[in-house]
Amino acid sequence: MSYREYPPRGLYHLPKKNILVLSCIDLRLTDNLLEFLHFENLTNRYDHFALAGTSLITQADNDELTLLLDHDKLGSEVKSYKTWNDVWRDHIRLAIILHDIKDIYIIEHEDCGAYKTFLTAEALSAGEHSCHVKFATALANQIHEFEMDDEGNTVVLNVHCFLIDLRGNIEHLYSI
Ligand SMILES: [Zn+2]
Repeated sequence: MSYREYPPRGLYHLPKKNILVLSCIDLRLTDNLLEFLHFENLTNRYDHFALAGTSLITQADNDELTLLLDHDKLGSEVKSYKTWNDVWRDHIRLAIILHDIKDIYIIEHEDCGAYKTFLTAEALSAGEHSCHVKFATALANQIHEFEMDDEGNTVVLNVHCFLIDLRGNIEHLYSI
């Protein structure tokens, strides 16, 4: 029996097929992340992609959210950050082609160094938690109807957003 807090039953539909997981690179929560995925009965059923800040830098060009980012700092510390969204989308496309994924889990985490480093002070003044909700939700909405090519072919994906705290507890943020 797990002693961690996980989302209650019925809050979202559990994936029946393979999934793709997007997480941060943070090393403190790797075991907790896997523990949650095992709890979800997803053992060896997920592709795992990690980006510092999870959804954060994928939204660097988002009209509404780009204002929350410190682009000078981003440009000096992450030279190719403008390509991250493309690289991430390439991996979604490959996960669909290679492993027929139907769901994506976006798993943000508490006390994220990338959020603290690359958000403006003003953005962070609203609280780190609300920033995770904004960025993860924006990304989920963008990839729900995923564009496979330039011909307008799309694949509908179920996208679920979570936040993992420093004790490994999981909060469900959003599903589409
Ligand atoms: Zn992080």
